Amino acid sequence: MSSSSPQISAENQWQNKYSEYLTRNGLKSTVQRDIIVKEFYRLEGHITAEELHAKIKTEHSSIGLATIYRTLKILTASGLALERHFNDGFTRYELCDTDSAHHDHIVCVACDKVEEFENDEIEELQKKIAAKYKFKMIDHKLEIYGLCRDCASEKK
Ligand SMILES: [Zn+2]
Ligand SMILES: [Zn+2]
Repeated sequence: MSSSSPQISAENQWQNKYSEYLTRNGLKSTVQRDIIVKEFYRLEGHITAEELHAKIKTEHSSIGLATIYRTLKILTASGLALERHFNDGFTRYELCDTDSAHHDHIVCVACDKVEEFENDEIEELQKKIAAKYKFKMIDHKLEIYGLCRDCASEKK
């Protein structure tokens, strides 16, 4: 929590950014989108549009998958969500808020479990590589694929 604005929660800051993005781009906030955006914020991990839809339709049966897709596109375009592609063919989304530091992923190819990690040495190394090629690094993705402990022991 930042000390300069103790009364504004991370969720409110994130919601404010969403509202600003809508205004800047001439988009209207709709009741359905607002429900989706709220629910997305609360869910953790790396979820697909279908998973989000399954959660939401239990209480809001009128919200269709197409609306979920459109809303996730808006969140991604505004930088409030990140699109992830691991190797199971699904597009997954994860929250990107002010407090969530950059992280990388390690993915189990058998059960699709995803763990997150941060490693300063890897971050530094990548900056060095970018510098070597005279690039200013903006972003990077690193995914390690393998078998998690549970799946590796099953295979034996
Ligand atoms: Zn596994
Ligand atoms: Zn992640």
